[in-house]
Amino acid sequence: MAIKYVAEPFRIKMVEPIKMLSREEREEKIKKVHYNLFYLEGKDVYIDLLTDSGTNAMSSNQWSALMLGDEAYAGASSYFRLVDAAKDIFAYDYIQPVHQGRAAEKVLFPVLLTKGKFAISNMFFDTTRAHVELAGGRCIDCVVPEAKIPSKRAPFKGNMDVALLEKTILEKGPENVGIVVMTITNNSAGGQPVSMKNMREVAEICKKYHILLDIDAARYAENAYFIKRDEAGYQNKSIKEIVREFFGYADTFTMSAKKDTIVNMGGLIGVRKEDPDLILKIKAACISYEGFYTYGGLNGRDLETLAVGLYEGLNEDFLKYRIGQVEYLASRLDDAGIEYQSPAGGHGVFVDAAKMFPQIPYYEFPGQTLGVELYREAGIRTSEIGSYMLGNDPDTGKQLHADFEFSRLAIPRRVYTQAHMDVIADALIEIKKRAASIKRGYKITWEPPILRHFQAHLEPIK
Ligand SMILES: *Cc1c(COP(=O)(O)O)cnc(C)c1O
Repeated sequence: MAIKYVAEPFRIKMVEPIKMLSREEREEKIKKVHYNLFYLEGKDVYIDLLTDSGTNAMSSNQWSALMLGDEAYAGASSYFRLVDAAKDIFAYDYIQPVHQGRAAEKVLFPVLLTKGKFAISNMFFDTTRAHVELAGGRCIDCVVPEAKIPSKRAPFKGNMDVALLEKTILEKGPENVGIVVMTITNNSAGGQPVSMKNMREVAEICKKYHILLDIDAARYAENAYFIKRDEAGYQNKSIKEIVREFFGYADTFTMSAKKDTIVNMGGLIGVRKEDPDLILKIKAACISYEGFYTYGGLNGRDLETLAVGLYEGLNEDFLKYRIGQVEYLASRLDDAGIEYQSPAGGHGVFVDAAKMFPQIPYYEFPGQTLGVELYREAGIRTSEIGSYMLGNDPDTGKQLHADFEFSRLAIPRRVYTQAHMDVIADALIEIKKRAASIKRGYKITWEPPILRHFQAHLEPIK
């Protein structure tokens, strides 16, 4: 039986109408966009689970803070309010606002990585990987092996494989490893958390070999909630205390504030210990790419909403509801025997499309097939995380075979209700009933040279 839904710790003050098109209309729309969900217009989507990034609902406090935005080019009071909030939470000496997570990567990574250096992570997120590579570095993932087995219910499946990390450092030579990046929660592995113990062990290794440790911190609050709930010794600590301890093990962080900080746009860079040379370089890169370092590509009003959101994201009642909502949806799938990356992660449910359609091979894209079916069934938009997204081998041009074939149901924060979760679960149950009758997947009829999944054209195979 599905678990009990954790009631919303807020009430609704403003609404945005949404509408489900008829099945015929949906059929027509999806065909017109070449079966690529990124081309759909937002108004044609009933429940939009494409991402939880920048799709969150701000609170009445954030909307009122927006009016306090100081739009001074340099030294705006909004900048100081944001820096005070971030220093209070993370206890870092230097805080740099930027316009989003990839901007933090673009500013910081070239400062830390020189050409030919390796960067090691539990798992790189795609933009993070891209910015390591643009800086001339090469990426290595060292996630624990259980992360790659969706049906295996293990706690802290986002962890770094510590033995593999040390082995990799020794193999490449510590002097050739420019940076270690701990991604929390581990987005690409299904929003799986990283334990405090794991972070502590990774920090010890980085210290031993004098390698800088960076946190890719988009979902730091969800990660802290999992530690409080599931890791021995943390039950009586506040979320803020857990965040402080976790960040205390790293040297820097890069953050997309479009996730746990519950704003629609924003990002941060943090440097833990005053380091004049590093900070000077960050400011210089920020001025070139983002804008003067006291606004970092954001409006004064954005800095204000970010300052408020930093605290709201840490609220325990909110996190209990947030993680509870995702778990409720997952438990409805358990009841129906629908497999997903389990246990459910922080920001969504990653449905195992290879299990739903065992007859469809990876090169016919089971995750994309399920995504199209979800739109047909109930106007739901998801994203594919699998071979379709992974693309072709750059050397041979052959389709790569991904570790997973997921349709990701990413849940925006404070946006959808329990009834919406039921619509999603019911749609998946209907699709499972007719799954065996869907014999073939999709083929690509046109694709751009890079990041093809955003723009490719597809066609069902007859
Ligand atoms: C979203 C995300 C990023 C990139 O942030 P943007 O704000 O989308 O540029 C980097 N790392 C992780 C883990 C993310 O989830």
